[in-house]
Amino acid sequence: MTSDSSVQHFDILVVGGGMIGSALSLGLSQQGWRVGLIEGASADVLLAPPEQASGVEDFEPRVSAISLASARLLDDLGAWQRVLSGRHCSYREMTVWDGDGTGRIHFDAAELHAQSLGTIVENRHIVRALFEAIANSTVTLIDGARVSGWSRTSGVALEDGRQVTAELVVGADGAMSRMRQWSGLATREWDYDQQAIVCSVRTRQPHRFTAWQRFSPTGPLAFLPLQSETGDDHFCSIVWSQDTREARRLMALEPEAFRRELEAAIERELGEVVAVSQRFAFPLRQRHAKDYVANGLALVGDAAHTIHPLAGQGANLGYGDVRALLEELGRARTLGLAPDDALVLARYQRRRKGENLTMMAAMEGFKQLFSRDELPIRWLRNTGMRWLDKLAPLKNRIAAEAMGTSE
Ligand SMILES: Cc1cc2nc3c(=O)[nH]c(=O)nc-3n(C[C@H](O)[C@H](O)[C@H](O)COP(=O)(O)OP(=O)(O)OC[C@H]3O[C@@H](n4cnc5c(N)ncnc54)[C@H](O)[C@@H]3O)c2cc1C
Repeated sequence: MTSDSSVQHFDILVVGGGMIGSALSLGLSQQGWRVGLIEGASADVLLAPPEQASGVEDFEPRVSAISLASARLLDDLGAWQRVLSGRHCSYREMTVWDGDGTGRIHFDAAELHAQSLGTIVENRHIVRALFEAIANSTVTLIDGARVSGWSRTSGVALEDGRQVTAELVVGADGAMSRMRQWSGLATREWDYDQQAIVCSVRTRQPHRFTAWQRFSPTGPLAFLPLQSETGDDHFCSIVWSQDTREARRLMALEPEAFRRELEAAIERELGEVVAVSQRFAFPLRQRHAKDYVANGLALVGDAAHTIHPLAGQGANLGYGDVRALLEELGRARTLGLAPDDALVLARYQRRRKGENLTMMAAMEGFKQLFSRDELPIRWLRNTGMRWLDKLAPLKNRIAAEAMGTSE
């Protein structure tokens, strides 16, 4: 890692050092490009070990179910072993059921001849692992610096007055991407009118290394398995997506009342919920940029698309973008093309847009299917789930798709 000074110029500049932008900048530097990474937060904060707390408060409320394909990418970048050296939980099974009926589907890694279906990792831990790898790379990190403007001709302006230029600028600045706005790339978006409540819990029974998800007409509730450093497997991270009114009511409850409602909502599948951490709520909105590329600019991760968290695929789609952009820019470098070559960027967009749209449409279909209360639809989804559960080839195909191992 090199330090920053006055005006700088790079082959490629990545704006946003979250889970996606930090992985991309690491991969690009490994291909030999001169790479700059601008991140609003300071590296000291991102690299600091987590503050020790006890019990449920020890876990960060934001976690991600990292698919096998994303883990492979992070491994190729040299960051996955760092992730595995810290707190994480691989899960071998997943159970999904309809709270309004008898339909239930069970996925098992053993049926897929895999060791796990994925790994639950706290987001900050993934970012820390990537920043540790960046610290040993040629990436020029410009941290604690916020971007305040971008144009193709004058480059990126920082709030402190500095100017940074590059052949190609990549917007990895998250769902509310300013890079996307400054570049004039339009989005198609709609409000789910739902909020996701996240927190950590401790349950009476161990989670059996299983991800649990119960659907109800007002939204899905997921219990994602966590494991403490000492191997305690009674912790879960919950993502409870509910219609906005219901989510507000749940957020306003006293801790004990919330704990009771949560326990009932998961049908005491893991016995009593014995402790609940502080809760956080995130408004849910589907957002998709109509184009991912413009003259001298590309978008990746949440800057290009955000989807409902019901299948835990947001970051995984972002890692799919990273892999595709790395492959296209790697090929461009071999061929001696500039990183902002229009055909190179167009190929990246073509590869990613279709796949991301398919996943977004599937999430929308799921959400619609489970939010309908009419008897024929309830019958259809319960019968469908029972039927699917017995139909191994199709079920395994769906699981492979979610794991990112379907190619
Ligand atoms: C409740 C919930 C649960 C989820 N669960 C899962 C899951 O299980 N699995 C999964 O795959 N995905 C999940 N997701 C989605 C996942 O969290 C996101 O897709 C992922 O965090 C996006 O990463 P990103 O790097 O694109 O954006 P971000 O994480 O938003 O990072 C953007 C970065 O850019 C920086 N930045 C922004 N603006 C500027 C600026 N002007 N100047 C400098 N820096 C800037 C920010 O500081 C930040 O570090 C979930 C999402 C939600 C809401």
